[in-house]
Amino acid sequence: MTQAMPDDLWRDFPKTATAFETRFATEEDCRAYWIAARWGGEPSCARCNSTRVWTIREGTTFECADCGHQTSLTSGTLLEKTHKPLKVWFRAIFEISTRRTGISAKDLQRIMGFGSYKTAWSWLHKLRAAMVRSDSEPLGPFVQIDEGARRRQRRPAQGAGSGGRGGGRKSAARPHRE
Ligand SMILES: [Zn+2]
Repeated sequence: MTQAMPDDLWRDFPKTATAFETRFATEEDCRAYWIAARWGGEPSCARCNSTRVWTIREGTTFECADCGHQTSLTSGTLLEKTHKPLKVWFRAIFEISTRRTGISAKDLQRIMGFGSYKTAWSWLHKLRAAMVRSDSEPLGPFVQIDEGARRRQRRPAQGAGSGGRGGGRKSAARPHRE
């Protein structure tokens, strides 16, 4: 498989429920997609950038062979600290992106089977904001949250649509090899 750029991956995000189920049949499929989007397929340590890492905690975290640092798949991203499987998030992204103007928090709650309306509302708000930003930078908001975005996340009243990533340059997620 040739290495796909995050943007290509995003364009490739399933547009139909059938395609979604085929593509993301298992949590492992979702992780592979996430790793491709975030690290170009080869995860690296968040502290020392080494690519000598192995998975722990059922594949949700990488431990570095060089410095011992543990990097969660979602740390530093919109999905940081989530306890839900990636598949659930991907499903929500799918549901929202395929009917961007139509879905309500109530709908999302019902479709996703969330126990609380509050959870559905916060997911919808968070993902929608990322999708607005993502017009110029498709998958970026999900996998490469910058400091500015973190601040915006903490202050939702500010609105998340107004740029902040000037220049549109994407930093390479791929580790540099010596
Ligand atoms: Zn390391």
